[in-house]
Amino acid sequence: MQIGVIGAGVMGSGVAQALAQSGLSVVVVDIDQAKLEQARGEIANALRFRALFGSSEKLEAADAVMERIQFTTEHQQLSDVSFVIENATESWEVKRDIYELIDGICREDCIFMINTSCISITKLAAVTGRPAQVIGTHFMNPVPAKKTVEVIRGFHTSDACVSAVGELMGEMGKEMIVVNDYPGFVSNRISHLFMNEAAFVVQDGVASAEEVDDIFKKCYGHAMGPLETADLIGLDTVVHSLKVLYDSYQDPKFRCCPLLQKMVDAGLHGRKSGQGFYSY
Ligand code: NAD
Repeated sequence: MQIGVIGAGVMGSGVAQALAQSGLSVVVVDIDQAKLEQARGEIANALRFRALFGSSEKLEAADAVMERIQFTTEHQQLSDVSFVIENATESWEVKRDIYELIDGICREDCIFMINTSCISITKLAAVTGRPAQVIGTHFMNPVPAKKTVEVIRGFHTSDACVSAVGELMGEMGKEMIVVNDYPGFVSNRISHLFMNEAAFVVQDGVASAEEVDDIFKKCYGHAMGPLETADLIGLDTVVHSLKVLYDSYQDPKFRCCPLLQKMVDAGLHGRKSGQGFYSY
């Protein structure tokens, strides 16, 4: 069985690694050759590190795991995969065009798993001819380390689809929490309010980024503060998601903080660019 992974960015490379280290064969598709090369290097490094320091049990050598991952710019290579896990840019237009394209390329029984922060699963399923086989799988970052996945049932998602995805998750060593479809689902509908308001607090000079995060970590016992989390996700992705939430609910509580937008315009995208609320 081969699994297609669309997008070789932060999430796509993590998903590809998690699949391959579970013994599954993967084809990763991105429109950007440089992103594919970067993903190849990052996955190989992560696997080498894992083989050296990861666990007391003997792990498969990194090179053997890498042999199960193919990298390509051609979506046509997805013609025989059983599942597609799509992790492209958080934009309705980008994802819509991908689903229109792959619906004509992939096998009729192929299941489409949408990894999105906020975009409606039902709306994307509607651009395909197989809405019962389309499901949201909101993986957590970093994918290989996070055991639980928020799975979203679209309006037409079938029980058979949920159960097939459950089996795949089991093979990846992951468990799922299944919720219903509304933009942002559970996790991001709530967490983006936290991250956005934290950025307003910094913009208004109430506290520094470190102080905001310390309040969440030291007072509330969170593992990470909202601004560290925003840097980890990618500030560009956070801004995209806030736009989706704002457009979807037409509720001003989701308006993007101007400081966040300004940082993204200036190229400060968080961890992946080396600079966000913190330096990396
Ligand atoms: P990213 O910007 O790091 O990567 C997106 C990749 O998609 C890029 O490499 C881009 O070249 C590629 N792409 C764009 N159009 C494409 C196309 N037509 N075909 C193939 N590839 C294409 O983004 P990311 O952080 O990896 O996020 C991917 C998705 O996962 C988004 O929908 C995001 O909301 C969601 N998500 C992100 C996180 C996170 O922490 N970053 C967590 C959960 C879910």
